[in-house]
Order: sequence, then C-alpha cells, then structure tokens
Amino acid sequence: MAAPKVAVVGAGVVGLSTALCIAETCPSCSVTVLSDQFSPNTTSDVAAGMLIPHTYPATPIHAQKQWFKETFTYLFAISNSAEASEAGIHLVSGWQVFKNTPKEELPFWSDVVLGFRSMSEAELQKFPQHQFGQAFTTLKCDCPPYLLWLERRLKATGIQICTRKVADLWELHGEYNVVVNCAGIGAQQLVGDKKLFPVRGQVLKVHAPWVKNFIRDGDGLTYIYPGIHRVTLGGTREKENWSLSPDPGTTKDIFDRCCSLEPSLRGAQDIKVKVGLRPSRQSVRLEREVLSQGGVKLPVVHNYGHGAGGFSVHRGTAKEAARLVGECIAALQGSSSRARL
Ligand code: FAD
Repeated sequence: MAAPKVAVVGAGVVGLSTALCIAETCPSCSVTVLSDQFSPNTTSDVAAGMLIPHTYPATPIHAQKQWFKETFTYLFAISNSAEASEAGIHLVSGWQVFKNTPKEELPFWSDVVLGFRSMSEAELQKFPQHQFGQAFTTLKCDCPPYLLWLERRLKATGIQICTRKVADLWELHGEYNVVVNCAGIGAQQLVGDKKLFPVRGQVLKVHAPWVKNFIRDGDGLTYIYPGIHRVTLGGTREKENWSLSPDPGTTKDIFDRCCSLEPSLRGAQDIKVKVGLRPSRQSVRLEREVLSQGGVKLPVVHNYGHGAGGFSVHRGTAKEAARLVGECIAALQGSSSRARL
C-alpha cells in the first residue's frame, strides 16, 4: 500500500493536536487537515485554556486522568522550553474556593497538578464568603497563540492544511484512506450525533496585568484566569443555547461576580466579550467506525465532544485517536496484502 492518506476534519485544538500526533506516530502517512474555520474563528479560540479538568460522567475516571496527565506532561515540557512564550503556555498558581466544603476534597486530578493542598486560614481571609479552598499550580494555554503554534508545527512536519467544509464524511472516500472527525459541535450536523449538544459560554478578556493568580469558584461558574497578555473572566454555562451573540446583561453579571472575588478588577480596562459553544456530551466520542456503501469501506476515527475540558485533555485524546488511526491503517494493509495473495 502506498503512503496512507489521512484526512483530519477540524482545526480547533482537538483537530490540530490529533493531526500532529498522527504525523508523529505514523511518519509514512500523508496527513491533511480540512476545516471550514481556523484560528481565530473556532470555539478553541474563545476558551480560557486552563488545565483544570471537567468531569465526563460516562467516561471512566482512569481514562480521563490518563488523558489529563498526558496533556499536562506535554504542556509542562513546552512551558519549560524556549518555545513557551511563542506557544502561549505558562504555569499559573491560584485558588479554587468553595462556599461549602465539597464531598470530594481530593479531585481525581489532584496529584497531576503541582503542589495541590488545602488553603490555610490566612489565605481564606482573602475570600470572606468562602469557607474552604484548594491551592495548586497548573498550566494555561493562551488559546490563539497555542493554535497558531500548532498550525506552524503541522506545516513544518509537511502536513497540508486546506479550507473546506465537509458536508458528509463519505465525500472523502476515494481521496483518503482514513478520516478523523474532530469537528467539535459541527459533528452534530456532520454525523447526526443527537447526544452532542452546545453549552454556550460567554467570557470577558480584560487588561488587568496586576492579577497574577487564578481564582475559581468551586461551582465552576465564576473564574478569573490570568494569561500572558489578558485575564479571562467567566462565565456562563447555557445548555442547548446556540446563540453566538454576546449578551450585555450577562457581561455585567460576569464582571460583578468576578469583582466580588477579586475587587481590584474594578480597575480592569479594554473589556472584550467572546462567546463559544462547548461541544458537550456525556462522554468524549473517541472510537473507530467503518462507513460502508455498496461494498466500499471508509474507516473513520471520531474524536469530538470534549465539552468544557478540551484543552485539559486534548493531547491525551489526540494520542489515543492516533493509535486508533494506526489500527485502521494496519487493517487496511492487512486486507491489501491478502488481496495480492
Ligand atoms: P472547535 O474548536 O470548535 O473546533 C472544531 C473545528 O471543526 C473548527 O475548526 C470547525 O471549523 C471545524 N468544523 C466543524 N464542522 C466542520 C465541517 N462540517 N467541515 C469542516 N470543518 C468543520 N477547556 C479547557 O480545557 N479549559 C478551559 O479553561 C476552557 N475554557 C472554556 C471557556 C469557554 C467560554 C468555552 C466556550 C470553552 C472552554 N473550554 C475550556 C472548552 C474548549 O474550548 C473545548 O472543549 C475545545 O475548544 C473543543 O475543541 P474542538 O477542537 O473539539 O472544537
């Protein structure tokens, strides 16, 4: 079989990192990324990019922990290299605070982030409305720079990047041997997945360079995540809401909630509002499928549905998707050598 041709549909953090992992694990493959939108116009560009996992209720915890650990290890190495500022990756320390002590005092990811511990009484004095808290250091991706860095890595590896809207995965058979679906919320239309739904998120990106520590309310709704240039203030979680228009009332509400956690934000300037649709599911869809029409087959690997945690697990799920692509190619090579006998 000649060099296997692999198409990756989608150019958010999941599609770009999956294409990179495929090129790394299968150097003989010819990989092409096909997408109707690229940075800065993807959901991934809106994200805060913090590595604090979201829990997928229908995915085993050991798999989620593995994905998070692989992602953390990968980005930690970048943060420790000369690439860090170009890739937009940095360490950030801060606090997750709770009005009531949570049932689970130790989240499953507590031994992956750095220096996880309960907050001291003295630290809690900063948050008079909260009675319990956790302090730790994690990583943050500044999203557009990280996506552009991934695109540059792909081009340097020889991966083709093309603007194309794919109406049906089947249209790619004949052109490609394996197709990888990383279409995010677009997968609802692309493969008719009724289990996939949007969770709308509105955030503010503000200039407040004195804010150096992250602060996250334990319910996950209100957060302050400092990046290299701007601080992300959040947020909202609106299930099944497809609107991409910012809501001014919500902007004021987010700002007020964040100021009650960090009063110095009243001095923040240059407030920009962004909205994104989290591609949400009970579990990430990470599996092989073989499409078939009239005896012709097209192997597909799905990797979408990362909801509120795509940045936190992207490298782990990309590695698993690349492994599944390897299985598809081995099966194709097996059937082509059987056909020659
Ligand atoms: P996307 O970024 O949406 O990319 C999908 C790609 O597929 C796009 O390029 C699109 O153009 C393309 N596409 C779709 N359909 C087609 C088609 N038919 N043909 C061709 N191309 C197609 N996660 C974290 O881990 N940490 C955070 O701090 C965090 N904060 C967030 C804050 C907000 C406000 C939001 C909205 C999300 C946040 N997330 C966070 C979640 C994270 O953004 C997502 O999980 C992640 O971006 C999903 O990436 P993706 O590549 O699957 O989707």
